[in-house]
Amino acid sequence: MSFESLGLRAELLSAIVARGYTTPTPIQTEAIPVIFEGCDLLAGAQTGTGKTAAFALPIVQLLGEKIPVEKRRKPRALVLVPTRELAAQVSEQMNNYARRLSLRSTMIYGGVTIQAQIERLHRGVDIVVATPGRLLDHAERGTIDLSRIKFLVLDEADRMLDLGFIDDIHRVAEYLPAKRQTLLFSATYSPSIKQLADELLDHPRRVEVARRNLAADAVTQAVYQVEKSRKREMLSLMIRKGNWNQVLVFARTRYGADKLTEELLFDGIKAAAIHSNKSQSLRTRTLAEFKRGEFRVLVATDVAARGLDIERLPHVVNYDLPQVPEDYVHRIGRTGRAGENGIALSLVSQEEQPLLQAIEKLLKQTIPRQILAEFPKYAASRTAAAMERKQAKKPAKSRKSREKAVQTAEVVPTPRRKKDAGERPAPKTGRSRSRNRSRK
Ligand code: AMP
Repeated sequence: MSFESLGLRAELLSAIVARGYTTPTPIQTEAIPVIFEGCDLLAGAQTGTGKTAAFALPIVQLLGEKIPVEKRRKPRALVLVPTRELAAQVSEQMNNYARRLSLRSTMIYGGVTIQAQIERLHRGVDIVVATPGRLLDHAERGTIDLSRIKFLVLDEADRMLDLGFIDDIHRVAEYLPAKRQTLLFSATYSPSIKQLADELLDHPRRVEVARRNLAADAVTQAVYQVEKSRKREMLSLMIRKGNWNQVLVFARTRYGADKLTEELLFDGIKAAAIHSNKSQSLRTRTLAEFKRGEFRVLVATDVAARGLDIERLPHVVNYDLPQVPEDYVHRIGRTGRAGENGIALSLVSQEEQPLLQAIEKLLKQTIPRQILAEFPKYAASRTAAAMERKQAKKPAKSRKSREKAVQTAEVVPTPRRKKDAGERPAPKTGRSRSRNRSRK
């Protein structure tokens, strides 16, 4: 199957060539003809399968067909996405195709001032890629007219439900014409997705692309069992030993992501964190810097990482296992994309064993356990020093053990930290300081 045989216009075929795609992916082969036929679509496809082009190409082509002037520049396609990051990525592709047919696409999301979006909408757009909350805000203010929408796409619908957007989606749907083509993409097919599809789709055609066999093809997975308190040490060692230059590390909480970033910087490894507490402009800048290779480690939470598309990302590390097993699949899907090979490693503590079991049950496979030969058996000086500090907080009771901790630190062979200024953390003066440091 070729892109030509899918009936795409020459302008779009040249855009595809420019992106370096040679053959359509399975979701593109299956979904594009259904969309051209005008049917609603319920697609089971996770991120990394090429689903964005699967809906963006036919929508742009159909919108690009001759229409009366007075109907131009009123939004006719709406793509709802769960996060700002995904909005940015979908928008990037949409823009790329849309401009070939003189269409305009814009992005609407929260966390930034609304005024610039209002102005862009006022100037006129054909395609809107939006997160539900901010879009609803525009709809309620009357700054967007959704009455001419012909295509509604719910991208990563399962994630939108996870993030609690269900009511917003229904309220947005009230502003849309009943006669429209609706396409729903979801990595999982849960009862709540089925219900959403029953409510919003009309006799949809179902397309399911095989969940990628993650272990067998592009992504090599491994589990390293390690005490919780020594994960940072192990990660630093892995990065240095493997000379990794681009690694995406998942932390469970925003606090954990910031803390790990600080610790990696302390270890002399350039790192930065993205999570929903960071401003949108900082997140966008951080991601761009990571893509350009300006620092080695991007520490992210699940929500912030959703939809991240980083070409040729070789390593993903689960510093904390996700609470929801499906998130493991999303996480490791960041690597090994579009034919590239990738490595996904998980640092798993004793407490996380039940989470690991749940993931393996979902994958229907055991993830190979590995040992890092160079990892010292005993905690390095830093752990001992941390223990010492902890003990020092309870002076009367713990004097003996404090002495013991110091002794342990002395007998354990400890890798010495280099003393040059670059490896020293700057004095802590609050968050803005640590942000600045993380972008050095
Ligand atoms: P998506 O699932 O839309 O997030 O796409 C995942 C990755 O695959 C992105 O980096 C796309 O640029 C890339 N991609 C999409 N379609 C193709 C294709 N037909 N051939 C090669 N790469 C593709």
